[in-house]
Amino acid sequence: MNQANHAALTEAGLATRFGADWPGRRCLAKTRAGGACQNPAIKDRSRCKLHGGKSTGPRTEEGKARSIAAHTKHGRRSREHVEKVRRSMLNCGGLPTSLSGTG
Ligand SMILES: [Zn+2]
Repeated sequence: MNQANHAALTEAGLATRFGADWPGRRCLAKTRAGGACQNPAIKDRSRCKLHGGKSTGPRTEEGKARSIAAHTKHGRRSREHVEKVRRSMLNCGGLPTSLSGTG
């Protein structure tokens, strides 16, 4: 392989090589070692095939509910709970006048 041939091959392989200078998007997932996953991301996504890039998420209502349940820690920030607290604040007249700054 001569020098010109090497340059041409390097140029031709740029699109499919995943070295340090690869121009495409990298997966943004955090690895168990603490670093960033360096795999190429799936097209139009920010994760590789190993980190959920191919997943389109739950489709059925049952699956969506199961996903929400699996990702809920305590529910104190859920829309339902926040609405409930807001309603109870309105029902009791909001803040006491001593705290509202107008009295
Ligand atoms: Zn990844």
